[in-house]
Amino acid sequence: MNTGKLIVFSAPSGSGKTTIVRHLLGLVPLNLEFSISATSREKRGDEIDCKDYYFLSAKEFKTKIKNDEFLEWEEVYRDNFYGTLKAEVERIWAKGKHVIFDIDVSGGLRIKRKFPEETLAIFVKPPSIDALKIRLKKRKTESEDKINMRIAKASAELATAPLFDVIIENDNLEHALFEAEALVDNFVNS
Ligand code: 5GP
Repeated sequence: MNTGKLIVFSAPSGSGKTTIVRHLLGLVPLNLEFSISATSREKRGDEIDCKDYYFLSAKEFKTKIKNDEFLEWEEVYRDNFYGTLKAEVERIWAKGKHVIFDIDVSGGLRIKRKFPEETLAIFVKPPSIDALKIRLKKRKTESEDKINMRIAKASAELATAPLFDVIIENDNLEHALFEAEALVDNFVNS
């Protein structure tokens, strides 16, 4: 298989990693393509199947686990499965592109362990748990219950930051974007 590079962005939900990933995808010379994850969670608002996620039923997801179709998968929240299909990475590498991931910390670290040389694993750190709560509330996409679930998970996720290759502190978005751009440019061109 042709192996390009793998750029992993992991962070607690609401840290701003998706904004950073979208910014990098807009930079053509980086030659990146987004790894579309599979998930069994419900589609939100304006999300599109096969663009934001491959939306599967829990049953379909479990069948793919059984068939060993995932590079990594995780029950990120109860009954909400998320995972990276092996075929997705192969699809992007076959186009001669590098893969960029927006996935949770366990999935990110699993990819790093599977492909240590090819992977740059970046952790995006929010300024504080309180700041995270404010961002999630502003987003207005989840119920109070779901927000609390995400906050509870965030503390555990923050503890894994030192296991990543690099930590980007997202207290100033412009700086974070600039730092991410420099890191990825350096890695894909090295
Ligand atoms: P959301 O429901 O907000 O889209 O995503 C919830 C969490 O699942 C986020 O932390 C996101 O990064 C993570 N996630 C998305 N795709 C994957 C994946 O393929 N694997 C893993 N392990 N986590 C994922």
